[in-house]
Amino acid sequence: MAASLLQRSLAAVWHPCTQMQHHETLPLTPIIRGEGPWLITEDGRRLLDGISSWWVNLFGHCNPRINAALRDQLEQLEHVLLAGFTHPPAVALSERLAALTGGSLGHAFYASDGASATEIALKMSFHMWRNRGLLQKDRFLCLEGGYHGETVGALAVTDVPLFRDAYAPLVRQAATVPSPDAQRAAPGETAADVARRAANALEARLEAENGRVAAFILEPLVQGAAGMVMYDPEYLRLARTLCDRYQAHLICDEIAVGCGRTGTFFAHEQAGIHPDLLCLSKGISGGYLPLSVVLCREEIFRAFYGSDTRKGFLHSHSYTGNPLACRAALATLDIFEQDDVLAANCGRAELLGRLLEETFSGHPAVRFLRQRGMIAAFDVEGAADGFPRRFFAAALEAGALLRPIGKTVYFMPPYVMDEPELRALTAAAFSALEQALT
Ligand SMILES: *Cc1c(COP(=O)(O)O)cnc(C)c1O
Repeated sequence: MAASLLQRSLAAVWHPCTQMQHHETLPLTPIIRGEGPWLITEDGRRLLDGISSWWVNLFGHCNPRINAALRDQLEQLEHVLLAGFTHPPAVALSERLAALTGGSLGHAFYASDGASATEIALKMSFHMWRNRGLLQKDRFLCLEGGYHGETVGALAVTDVPLFRDAYAPLVRQAATVPSPDAQRAAPGETAADVARRAANALEARLEAENGRVAAFILEPLVQGAAGMVMYDPEYLRLARTLCDRYQAHLICDEIAVGCGRTGTFFAHEQAGIHPDLLCLSKGISGGYLPLSVVLCREEIFRAFYGSDTRKGFLHSHSYTGNPLACRAALATLDIFEQDDVLAANCGRAELLGRLLEETFSGHPAVRFLRQRGMIAAFDVEGAADGFPRRFFAAALEAGALLRPIGKTVYFMPPYVMDEPELRALTAAAFSALEQALT
């Protein structure tokens, strides 16, 4: 008898973020088709994609408009190297992204995944100071619990022990500063008070580093992999001021929170600030193709410009600025414009919040129900070892893809779920929680 897709996958594919032995008891789910917010399994079951397939799929699976744009691009140009050559999708995308930053970040450098974008931003920052003769600026700061990817360079600014500890001897760890996590508010304190407290600690660290910090990297408003830790925009305003005062770059990693996820197109807009460097990936291609981009200010670009090759930014990836990926991103930006997605998402987010409030706010195990735009989460009290896997399996049974991070259950639906799907998702989460707790 022929082996099933599942057996062949376990034999030949090394799955990410997985202890492979767990699949002896937790079966893989073979998916053969996607349709809007739905994933369709090999045996014909339909699953609601409640986390946009790891936060990438903004407008549903097999989106007709993105599909059409890609078909059109396929007939013209699938790829060309971006060194010494250029092509319409890379130019148009760079111009449109610059316009979305209000013209403040006018130069786009491309790569294929988020971790590479992080490394590009760190290298650009360090190299800019070096080109200016400031060789002492060779340190980075990151937030406690921050996540910026898992390559060896990106792990230096990633403070998630589960991902980092095994590789600690390989990593030149950056200094971490306290998270402005709103949950840390003492009685009578607001989220903005916590932000100010955390900013004081940031200032003390910048002072102690005595001019050696090249850049401070953070995830604006929501620290995703830390467990959807949310904080007040006041922290971003203070961090901006402090970075200016201590001559350090502010890198906003909007790989997860960009592209409308928090309610504005970029999360940092909610603080009325501009970063020096901005990382985007995940949703930028609508979840179709690997693409990341680092946007930077004129001043940084200028510091590399000159006759000396070694002062140039020589970083490259084979697929830098791939035309298909750029075209998928352009189609994604078109949908934002044509459908006024940010406005429509206000209603979706409001409904999601209301449904979660109704279903979970009185639940004895639910703590810190929280939301920022199209991200909602709560923590589960008494979540034992194995809770995330039990919840994940029970949610699949109930017809939804939801994948808790530790004790945090979160929702990051694609921007195509409407009332019936959001109701079904909430109901599946409720049923999964009941099962996972028993
Ligand atoms: C996912 C993520 C990354 C890493 O992106 P990959 O494409 O997985 O390498 C970096 N930063 C943040 C905030 C992320 O959520």
